[in-house]
Amino acid sequence: MEAAGERCFQMQRLRQAGIEVARGVFRFGDGHVNWYVIEQEGALTVVDGGMPSHWPALMDWLTKRGQGLDAVRAIVLTHGHADHLGIVRRLSDATGRPVSIHPDDEALAKGARLHTPPRRIRRNLWKPHVFALNLNWARAGLFTVPPILHAECYTDGQRLDVPGSPRAIHTPGHTPGSSCLLLADRDVLITGDALVTLDVVTGRRGLGIMPGTLNDDPEQAWDSLTALAGITATTLLPGHGEPYAEGVPTALAAARRHGIDWRTPAAGAHGHTH
Ligand SMILES: [Zn+2]
Repeated sequence: MEAAGERCFQMQRLRQAGIEVARGVFRFGDGHVNWYVIEQEGALTVVDGGMPSHWPALMDWLTKRGQGLDAVRAIVLTHGHADHLGIVRRLSDATGRPVSIHPDDEALAKGARLHTPPRRIRRNLWKPHVFALNLNWARAGLFTVPPILHAECYTDGQRLDVPGSPRAIHTPGHTPGSSCLLLADRDVLITGDALVTLDVVTGRRGLGIMPGTLNDDPEQAWDSLTALAGITATTLLPGHGEPYAEGVPTALAAARRHGIDWRTPAAGAHGHTH
């Protein structure tokens, strides 16, 4: 059982170690959470940082490219939750690069409530799939993720002066500082947990905001979708779930069909095994 679980975890890690999911954008993570590397003329921006156990995936990928950690010029966070911070402190320490985050999530990423799981996870821990998720995350080091020490804050609408020049779009609700990152010239929107394609609690796939009480403020997360209206990027890269390649307008329509919670099955949604 133990061995099978480990093997499954390894396979997930390998499968998503540095796959190019859009021009110069590489996906890392496992079956539960994603993070990304943006490449521009050899220089790299790391967006989010998954789990502590994902560190070797980055090192292996850099080695294969003939690059070292000095290629990492910037670290940017979509929000301050522990499951997106796994390698961030280590990466910041090793490269000397600061971590960029929206100011409203700075306290969270610096340790305040960093390891407190959301209410919905705590309440449903007795359910086998929730328990399994937490077991996987515990094995991956979620509950020992170190907080960040230094932050550089970005503001809504700011184009960050880092490789790939992402523009931050503040989409609060999942957390107060949750933001999406638009790579306009690559036709890509990195959505963090403002808009995802996987409900990590139930394993259900489909477009939506994070389900209900996994958000600090579900109503606000819902309202924040309006901040994405008018964006036409084709590829959405979420914090949880597979990339979505049918464009932001279609994604928003699908999310609106799902509603604020995913408990009611919606057309187009289908379960998967977890
Ligand atoms: Zn989150």
